[in-house]
Amino acid sequence: MSQAMTVKIKLNPNELEEELITLSSLTYIKTVNSLVSEMVKSKETTKKSSKDIKAPLNSSVKNQAIRDAKSVFKKVKKDNFKKVPILRKPVIIWNNQNFTICEHGIKMPFIVNGKSEKIEISAIISDYERLLLNRASKVGTLRITKKGNKYIAQIAVEIPEPINTSVKTMGVDLGIKIPAVCCTNDNEVKFIGNGRMNKYVRRQYNARRKELGKAKKINALKKSNNKEQRWMADQDHKISRDIIDFAIQKNVGIIRLEKLANIRKQTRKSRKNNRSLSNWSFYRLASYIEYKAKLVGIKVEYVNPAYTSQRCPNCGHINHAKDRKYDCSNCQYTGHRDIVGAKNIIYAPVLDGNSQVA
Ligand SMILES: [Zn+2]
Repeated sequence: MSQAMTVKIKLNPNELEEELITLSSLTYIKTVNSLVSEMVKSKETTKKSSKDIKAPLNSSVKNQAIRDAKSVFKKVKKDNFKKVPILRKPVIIWNNQNFTICEHGIKMPFIVNGKSEKIEISAIISDYERLLLNRASKVGTLRITKKGNKYIAQIAVEIPEPINTSVKTMGVDLGIKIPAVCCTNDNEVKFIGNGRMNKYVRRQYNARRKELGKAKKINALKKSNNKEQRWMADQDHKISRDIIDFAIQKNVGIIRLEKLANIRKQTRKSRKNNRSLSNWSFYRLASYIEYKAKLVGIKVEYVNPAYTSQRCPNCGHINHAKDRKYDCSNCQYTGHRDIVGAKNIIYAPVLDGNSQVA
């Protein structure tokens, strides 16, 4: 059993490389489009090989373009030539023989001054992405596309069913003020995300929407709402990836999360804590953590959230924590409240069913 997925890596090309990518991508889609239109005209699959194509592309890339064009033609033919799709978004694809993942980038051939040359484009590859690439039972094609003003490398991989024998456990306390606090049973701690920044960004969105509401600009209001939703999902992707990165670094085999209601815990009730700012989905973040953990062989378990923020990790006494500091009235243990939460999550009773909260 294996799972097909795409590993996405943000590239940081310099100006020259950016130009190479742009030109090659435009040439690539132009080549595919013209091959498709030739085939549609003759109603026959092309017999051309890379030698017959005069575009400034590496021969393996030309072969990939021919392969792409053939598969487009096959679909068009099957559909009785009703509609001929035209590629518009620049993209370029290399097959798995033609690129190498390096320590600080990805290397692939371009045509420079009429000659094929391998160029390493710099990229920051996270531990999570690298582990996926290392674990892949099959590596497919590399595509480079542009999203906004970012260049993204997409590598198709097949990930085998993971085997993990580590029993090292990590508790993760999810919240608003600090999006995630991780603590392993060896007391390795990591704070992830920036709650203050998140709150600030969401306030901006809120203020903007209030204005739009007053001006009765319904479409703009919807747009702003969607944009905020996408931004929140993006934050959750980052937080979950950082959690998994930390777990990989510390050789964690089991991650424990609290089984919570759909609203993340509100740290303190006050008028300042605007209600609409606290409705950040816990399910989404938890499901992202689960998804990424599964791919690298880490088990996710849900625990009963009762008393996780109040129980003393040293003596078990129940204290009511004030502010961010935890102070045990029984054994004088003191600590950061959120670390206490994460620590208690490690040892809290695991609930039935390993998956998401129903
Ligand atoms: Zn105590």
